[in-house]
Amino acid sequence: MAAVDKDVAEKFLDSNPDFAKQYYDTKFRPKVISDLFKDNTTSQVNTSSFHELSTVEESEIIFDMVRDLQDNIQMEKAIFNFMKHLSFMIRSEKMSLFMYRMRNGTAELATRLFNVHKDATLEECLVQPDSEIVFPMDIGIVGHVATTKKTVNIPDVSQSSHYSDFVDQIQEYQTKSVLATPIMNGKDMVAVMMAVNKIGAPHFTKQDEETLLKYLNFANLILRVFHLSYLHNCETRRGQVLLWSASKVFEEMTDIERQFHKALYTIREFLNCERYSVGLLDMTKTKEFYDLWPVLMGEVPQYDGPKTPDGREINFYKVIDYILHGKEEIKVLPNPAPDHWALVSGLPTYVAKEGLVIIDVRWFLFPCPVQKGPVDSSGWIIKNVLSLPIVNKKEEIVAVATFYNRKDGKPFDEQDETLMESLTQFLGWSVLNTDTYDKWNKLENRKDIFQDMVLYHIKCRTDETQNVLNTRDRYGKEPHECEEVELEAILSEVLPPSSKSELFEFHFCDFEHSHLDLVKLGIKMYYELGVVDKFHVPRETLTRFCYSLSKGYRQITYHNWSHGFNVGQTMFTLLMTGDLKRYYTELETMAMVTAGLCHDVDHRGTNNLYQMKSGNPLAKLHGSSILERHHLETGKTLLRDPALNIYQNLSRAQHEHVIHLMDIAIIATDLALYFNAFRKYSHPLTFYTFHCYSLNLKWRKPVLNKIYSKICILFAKRHKINTVALSVAAEFWEQGDLERTVLEQQPIPMMDRTKSADLPKMQCGFIDFVCAFVYKEFSRFHVEITPMLDRLLNNRKEWNALKEIHEAKLAALEEAKTVKEEAAVTATAAKQGNPGIKPGSVVTPLALSCSPLDRCATLDTWWKLH
Ligand SMILES: [Zn+2]
Repeated sequence: MAAVDKDVAEKFLDSNPDFAKQYYDTKFRPKVISDLFKDNTTSQVNTSSFHELSTVEESEIIFDMVRDLQDNIQMEKAIFNFMKHLSFMIRSEKMSLFMYRMRNGTAELATRLFNVHKDATLEECLVQPDSEIVFPMDIGIVGHVATTKKTVNIPDVSQSSHYSDFVDQIQEYQTKSVLATPIMNGKDMVAVMMAVNKIGAPHFTKQDEETLLKYLNFANLILRVFHLSYLHNCETRRGQVLLWSASKVFEEMTDIERQFHKALYTIREFLNCERYSVGLLDMTKTKEFYDLWPVLMGEVPQYDGPKTPDGREINFYKVIDYILHGKEEIKVLPNPAPDHWALVSGLPTYVAKEGLVIIDVRWFLFPCPVQKGPVDSSGWIIKNVLSLPIVNKKEEIVAVATFYNRKDGKPFDEQDETLMESLTQFLGWSVLNTDTYDKWNKLENRKDIFQDMVLYHIKCRTDETQNVLNTRDRYGKEPHECEEVELEAILSEVLPPSSKSELFEFHFCDFEHSHLDLVKLGIKMYYELGVVDKFHVPRETLTRFCYSLSKGYRQITYHNWSHGFNVGQTMFTLLMTGDLKRYYTELETMAMVTAGLCHDVDHRGTNNLYQMKSGNPLAKLHGSSILERHHLETGKTLLRDPALNIYQNLSRAQHEHVIHLMDIAIIATDLALYFNAFRKYSHPLTFYTFHCYSLNLKWRKPVLNKIYSKICILFAKRHKINTVALSVAAEFWEQGDLERTVLEQQPIPMMDRTKSADLPKMQCGFIDFVCAFVYKEFSRFHVEITPMLDRLLNNRKEWNALKEIHEAKLAALEEAKTVKEEAAVTATAAKQGNPGIKPGSVVTPLALSCSPLDRCATLDTWWKLH
């Protein structure tokens, strides 16, 4: 057999295609084809003379691609393998893949795989972010395909109006024919694939087009799988970022700097970048005169730099840098210099000015280019950037966050933008928390200042202490420099004797004592209870406490220091003279007398309903028992001051107990609560049972306390008819006047000065329905309390007498009126006139006509109003 050289064999095979086909089909092809595409192997076969693919070859190629998918290798590698196969099949010189993306709201196409041919390697074809070629949508055949979303087959590019030769010029290459097709995900553009220059023919054929489209399904599938998994990854990251930052945002509310820092630090791993920097913007809108002064004086030049959309000077008062490459580092820079690496390009300033998101700065479009060389001594270089404003609920830019260099080397894309935007939006909203906290803090400080001022004025001054503890005269030194025995010596002299002042009497009368005397008697009660030595109450503290308490009462008609003392003294008398103290420990008697003294401190002369109607802040602070809670709080505030704390030497448990008793006793002075308890226990047997229980069972004691403290008040109000009851009434009328003038409402009869003539009647009703029953019941169990009942009944007698006089007067008036009317009838020309009552005028109880008020109404009124 003659030697057959290459040319002869080629010629033979070319001219006998049937034989060649059969030959390769059976022997060579599957192996050759599959070897051909193994990485880094160069085929020994000249593929330019191959024509058709057999089904075996196709299945071989498809299998390869499916394996890539299964192996879940990098998207670029899978597409690269696919393009290698395809460029061989359609016999193109090279193929390229252009990825579609949005940058700062503009669509564009960027090279991802470039110049792929059958012998190419991934390394040479994969385009690095910094060397990619970007096509705007209106340039080149690529742009045209992406715009029309249609496949194009251009036999001669020189005849195409869309052809742009700028890439050819860079590459010194001559494009002749082009076959390009869009890759879509549903309706969304994903990429454009382009084949250039057909080998062995002038242009791509219809058949090539079909092959391309047929195999494109694979590319599509690969891209879609990777795209989906990328999206999934982004969404997961977004979820994590939001969740983690949320937890930090709500954990830290003190200030925006800490809040942002905590949130951004926690999520640093998910941000997937090498560095990020947060610049906090000064929020000052209008400058104070002292800020403007240096400018007006010419010491500082006028600011003429850019401003935020809401008109603030752009001043980053703090920058926080998070450096995550190499050794992790966080740098907080107050008042950063303008040449700081993150600020020097002007990018954050630009973002703060425009309020725009800037993604992957295109150096030529951006007015101030980001530095190209190393930014600091670490040699780190900025490759790509994503910068966003952080905007609060009021649409003000509070900070600018800039992210640098995506960790995988790719540029930031719209997914990153979405993620970071969610984050910055979230951080922006969270500013509300810190703003609120800030306001709250200021209010708190203001409150502290006011409390301090108030306390200063209420607290017994050192010179006032001398009115009781005259240590300066006596010893020539201050009380705190004295021994307890020295102070005791003074007190034993200056405190009035109990018997002379009738401290133990139910008929004790505060009108006979001065303000200061009542302070001294207050101190005296603690002595009589025997608690001063037992509970180590420092004498100076006790003096200052009683004195301060007296100053805490306002100088008003009824609810003044006299009334406060009176209730304390009634409680004291009930315990001592009424012998109720046998049911209580000494500690408890001390708490109850203190509660009595404190029970109306800082009363305003108007009742709870008035506080609500007039919208007083007290009513907004406390839902129920408005004033009572305020009295309790005020009392406790005084007791918290070390100089006034008479409980300072009690054990923790004792202290808790006395405060608890005071809580109950003072809140129980709310008459509304009293009526509830009264109704519940109104049946004598129930009352009796309850009472017996209270003697034996500790837990019943608080309920009993409530009743006791109420009795004290009722008693204090009732026992001196002509003065106390009238001053209560006078205060009510004052409130009535306020209701009429300030609230423009008609006061209820009890507070209506014009109905003051009804007072005796109302008093009788009150005694009958509110007081008498309880006094009666108590007197039955405690004979010692009978004087209270006696006085009450005596009071009723007196009121009743007044009532009868008034009624008699009314009857007389009525009679006179009838007579007059009759006279008028007889004398036809007679004229008559009734003297009217001027609202707000002070009138004596018996001077006026009345409107009938039944007893239930009186009771109801009391219930509603006290
Ligand atoms: Zn009171």
